[in-house]
Amino acid sequence: MKINKNKCVFLDRDGVLIKDVGYLKKPEDIIIMPDSIDALKSLKACGFLLIIVTNQAGIAKGFFNTEDLIAVNNKLLKIYEDKGVIIDDLYFCPHHENGTVEPYNIKCSCRKPETGMVLKGVEKFNIDTDKSYMVGDKDSDIMLAKNSGLKSFYIRNFMYEHDENIAPDFYVKDLKEAYEIIIKSLL
Ligand SMILES: [Mg+2]
Ligand SMILES: [Zn+2]
Repeated sequence: MKINKNKCVFLDRDGVLIKDVGYLKKPEDIIIMPDSIDALKSLKACGFLLIIVTNQAGIAKGFFNTEDLIAVNNKLLKIYEDKGVIIDDLYFCPHHENGTVEPYNIKCSCRKPETGMVLKGVEKFNIDTDKSYMVGDKDSDIMLAKNSGLKSFYIRNFMYEHDENIAPDFYVKDLKEAYEIIIKSLL
């Protein structure tokens, strides 16, 4: 019997790890959040897996294609890797029910706040959701955390409307502040 389950910080991509520029298409347009490198490094040092879960409806809507997205994601992973941060996995949802591009214009079970991407990680890495977190900057990220049994950090950057009834476990200004709260909880 496996008793030692892993703990993980699930990470939204846009607005958390990189600047949210809206339907980012080109690797050269990536702007890394300055404090994210140290925060991720420290989380790793504390034994957390790092998994990115990102909605990319731009594919279903025809703003970019899967290859564009993979090029951006690979560049992001490489930037972190060069700084000594290994991201354990990355899942993206290319779907949107109102999209125009087949076969992505469907109602799926992976678009946040649906839990498909988190469940994939939980299963693959034997993750204990009770000891794990979600960090995001949209209400759908908070809802995803609630739907998957993760504790939630909401980065309030005022880019998106926030329903005050959808309360995260913690409001933070960035990933670094989330890290500091996680660390305190481990003491
Ligand atoms: Mg986001
Ligand atoms: Zn999906």
